[in-house]
Amino acid sequence: MTRAARIASRLEAWYAREGRDLPWRRRRDDPYAVWVSEAMLQQTRVETVLGRYGAFLDRFPDLASLAAAPEDAVLKAWEGLGYYRRARLLHAGARAVVEHAGGRLPDTVEGLRALPGFGPYMAGAVASIAFGRRCAATDANAVRVLARLERLDGSRGDPALTRAVATAHAALVEASIDPGALNQAVMDLGARVCVRRPRCSLCPVRDLCAAFADGGEAAAARYPAPPARRAPRDVAVAMAVVADGKGRVLAGRRPPGLLGGLWGLPLGEGPDAGQAAGALVATLHEAGVPAADDLRSAGAFDWAFTHRRWHVEVLTLAAAEAVPTGSWTWLDATARADAAFGGPFRRALATKPPGESPGG
Ligand code: SF4
Repeated sequence: MTRAARIASRLEAWYAREGRDLPWRRRRDDPYAVWVSEAMLQQTRVETVLGRYGAFLDRFPDLASLAAAPEDAVLKAWEGLGYYRRARLLHAGARAVVEHAGGRLPDTVEGLRALPGFGPYMAGAVASIAFGRRCAATDANAVRVLARLERLDGSRGDPALTRAVATAHAALVEASIDPGALNQAVMDLGARVCVRRPRCSLCPVRDLCAAFADGGEAAAARYPAPPARRAPRDVAVAMAVVADGKGRVLAGRRPPGLLGGLWGLPLGEGPDAGQAAGALVATLHEAGVPAADDLRSAGAFDWAFTHRRWHVEVLTLAAAEAVPTGSWTWLDATARADAAFGGPFRRALATKPPGESPGG
């Protein structure tokens, strides 16, 4: 038996014995359900997905129902998972399958890659897990496991490391019995055992691991080398909760970009609080709310995105006479509850607007 075959067989046996019992793993016979789980799990913790997966599939039980749904309904069902671009791509992918593939998800990596939202990882995951195709699905956890198993030099994101990891992963898939199970075993090992500080005493392939052989857990923890970090940019944000005194709050669709397409509140950004407040006044003016002198500070919070950090000051304003212009409109409490607001806006809405009860 080759080394790759020994590793693959141990990982598959370990996964069969100790793999986590997650709802999507019981639905390998439903490619759509596998696809939804993979879209949700990208950049999101399993625990968070567990709280949303069932409800999403109740709302959209099959590909046709997702394709037929308006985007608003899809974004609403996605609320809490973040990274809304994934929801839009999932939706666009479902529509493309219905329009161009007869409503059936393609069963090859190439066919899947032609759809919106399918990068190499997602195509490999769905093709191997749902269709049993012999292909790798290499997520960040798998990169860590393979870099250690093979003691691969190079930091995350290096093209040379990516190529070496792909070669190592392909060899394991080739030697496996069930490629979908092998892929999930590698990812699971990376999520639970071969974590940042590896727990090698629990590892089923410890005696085959090159990094462990080199010096135990301490040596293994050095693989892969971390990427050079870019610090998130700090941005001051002034955000307004404008109320009309009849229970309605001024809101509008975000333009493309950060939180694009979601509902938001008027805001101004700047390098400091003063400039952010000035930008907010300009935004309010354009929205048909000129009485910016009466803005009252109502609280502050920080909100972290991947590459920037918002320092938000929430301001409230009573503007009964305002007539919203452009994309701005009044939303009552029911409409606000139904609308998909970006996370920081939802947080600001919990601030008590003038003449309003909190929670909007
Ligand atoms: Fe990871 Fe340790 Fe297992 Fe090697 S022995 S794969 S470093 S957990």
